[in-house]
Amino acid sequence: MIVSLLTADLNERIEAAYELLESCRVCPRKCGVNRLKNDKIGFCRSGLNAVVSSASPHHGEEPPISGTKGSGTIFFANCNLRCVYCQNYPISQMGTGNERTTAELACQMLWLQEQGCHNLNLVTPTHFMPQILKALGIAKERGFSLPIVYNTSGYESVEALRLLDGIVDIYLPDMRYSEGKAALRYSIAPHYPEINRAAIKEMYRQVGNLGLDENGIAKRGLIIRHLVLPNGNSGTEGVMKFLAEEISKDVYLSLMSQYFPAYKAHEIPELSRKITSKEYDEAYQIMQGYGLENGWVQEFE
Ligand code: SF4
Repeated sequence: MIVSLLTADLNERIEAAYELLESCRVCPRKCGVNRLKNDKIGFCRSGLNAVVSSASPHHGEEPPISGTKGSGTIFFANCNLRCVYCQNYPISQMGTGNERTTAELACQMLWLQEQGCHNLNLVTPTHFMPQILKALGIAKERGFSLPIVYNTSGYESVEALRLLDGIVDIYLPDMRYSEGKAALRYSIAPHYPEINRAAIKEMYRQVGNLGLDENGIAKRGLIIRHLVLPNGNSGTEGVMKFLAEEISKDVYLSLMSQYFPAYKAHEIPELSRKITSKEYDEAYQIMQGYGLENGWVQEFE
């Protein structure tokens, strides 16, 4: 919880995070551009100011995240991945949103708290982690105290994640691939499986298995999202094996069937259709086979 962190400790983290921006290594791409000068030439096309697409209560997340009052979602523009099938590509790839100073971002956090949201849900936060930390520092001074959800594609550096230890309460990462070839072809994400797994281990070390309050609302812990892609391209077997053998059979998992060929996916034959019920059932059986029973299975449509 951010309220438990001493101000001096938080300030040290903010300083360390901004150092990462100078020759940018905020994420595993390590572009090395100086984002303190507002250069937007890194892979994520992001500079000094965060770009926010929207800030509002959201009711479509997993039940312990949305609860009854909604999850206070801040949707960041741009991304450190290039998923050819991104369903939010106008935001992630075309940068739809408005630049916000850290003071403005803090106001949005406080506004979401005033709306009664259960938590602050930072969506695609990775490339703006330092700015988010600074905004949290400002918001905390003004009474911000919500649990923080870090809702990420899972292409994270362990060095950056360590700065979030004791600040992020709930990690909500994707596990997109088990094969480097697929990660490279569909997301231009070299070494995604190794990087993603190291990140998941660090997240789990920090927050452990999901804990709920008496009303079933998430207080702390890890929730993995796995989107099933057509033709086995999401590497479900490898993901489930890793979770069962290297994380915990009690880990909470959100199995997702909602894939459709958005953005450029219709140009790629093996991704140019929705998944079949057979493919989804196979993914479910694999999950069951590894004894992973906690979580949610999206209905097949
Ligand atoms: S955050 Fe952006 S600029 Fe920095 S290393 Fe990652 S992709 Fe490159």
